[in-house]
Amino acid sequence: MILANNLYKEKNIDEIVAVHYDDEGNAEIINPCGRCRQMFNDYVPDIKIIVDDDRIAKSVGVDRVLPFSYKNKALEYRRVKKSTDNEEVEK
Ligand SMILES: [Zn+2]
Repeated sequence: MILANNLYKEKNIDEIVAVHYDDEGNAEIINPCGRCRQMFNDYVPDIKIIVDDDRIAKSVGVDRVLPFSYKNKALEYRRVKKSTDNEEVEK
């Protein structure tokens, strides 16, 4: 996710998926680990995550993959400040 954010800084990423290719080249969706789920929650709380639910792909919000999550207040403040700063630039 961090890699995607760095590679595509100029783009708004709405949805993300992790994919594994087996030796025959077949792709399968890999569900994010706990650390990645927390990173989504901290840095891109509005992103949709495509997950594998018993071989069915579903697009879900962060709250679905990380219920009752810890909220990092410092990051929330920075996110709000950044969006406020961007609004000021656009004026
Ligand atoms: Zn991970």
